[in-house]
Amino acid sequence: MAEEDYYALLGVGRNATEDEIKRAYRKLARELHPDRHAGTPAEAGANEERFKLVNRAYETLKDPERRRQYDMFGAEGERAADPFGGFAGGGLGDIFDAFFGGGPFSPRNSGRSGPPRGENVEAGLEIEFAEAVLGTQREVPVRTATTCETCSGTGARPGTISVTCSTCNGLGELRRVRQSLLGQMVTSTPCPRCGGTGEEIPSPCSDCRGQGRRMEEQSYTVDVPAGVDDGSTLRLTGWGAAGARGGPPGDLYLHLRVRPHATLHRDGFDLRTALRVSMAQAALGAQLKVETLDGPEELTVPPGCPTGHEIRLRARGVPHLQRRGRGDLIVTVVVETPTDLTPAQEELLRRFAVERGEDVAPPEAGLFSRIRSAFK
Ligand code: ZN
Repeated sequence: MAEEDYYALLGVGRNATEDEIKRAYRKLARELHPDRHAGTPAEAGANEERFKLVNRAYETLKDPERRRQYDMFGAEGERAADPFGGFAGGGLGDIFDAFFGGGPFSPRNSGRSGPPRGENVEAGLEIEFAEAVLGTQREVPVRTATTCETCSGTGARPGTISVTCSTCNGLGELRRVRQSLLGQMVTSTPCPRCGGTGEEIPSPCSDCRGQGRRMEEQSYTVDVPAGVDDGSTLRLTGWGAAGARGGPPGDLYLHLRVRPHATLHRDGFDLRTALRVSMAQAALGAQLKVETLDGPEELTVPPGCPTGHEIRLRARGVPHLQRRGRGDLIVTVVVETPTDLTPAQEELLRRFAVERGEDVAPPEAGLFSRIRSAFK
């Protein structure tokens, strides 16, 4: 649970005089006193809870020594009189570890001073085929650590500052010199008190418990560049988790899934599609429309076009990722054999076959003659 700010509870500034604190308390006590307050049981309960908190705040702030302790170490420190009881402690650190598999003490930060870099974050995004080819802008929800606004990422309670770590004197690491048979050996380990930052926070920010960052559901607007493919990963530098206590952010890795298209598919930077034409169109040639990602486009099927013939539409394919220009759209002609001939059409085709001297199956054996006989 978030710690209550005693000054906020009393509605006074951090520099309030003893007199101001006393007057603020008396005013609140009159308002909140259970004997004075009427209302529903729920209202009375909430009121009583607040009355207790206000009393606790006043008990601390009216006493100069306890107020000084509170200012330096927060309520935890003031209660326990343990300056480091609240430092970077508590559950939130465990959540970060669980989510990111590494905290300020992870081996990556060994021997390095300064606040640790935030973790890389991975997320997935499914997009349409056309979006992948032509590029798109999408909102991507990501659960990640973001800089705590209350303390601007410093981890220190507003109005307080961090101080040089007393264990490592600001080096961020502990060096140990040992005598061994081979001579002097120096080993260094990250300072356990400050986690390698070289600084410690006497009065941690209560909103982030001194971490300088908080887990939040973020919505990032991501520009997906034209030409990405299924299975590509976008690396968004600096979009990962905010580093603890003002450390630099990690990166966001966005894994892309591309939904297949009904008629188009990719072949490198070219697109491929099939164009079904009739026997007559293939033989005589035709002007036909084909669907492209840029809208329907007219193309010419030449007379005598065989099945499997390829027609190339220049620059209607996938934009190149690193250079200008686009691939092509390759249209493969597929000549379709009719299976739904009317008696008149069958008659025409038979005469056509006779004209060409072609041997075809006799009418009685054919499916269409049987259908025709049904109409007799
Ligand atoms: Zn904070």
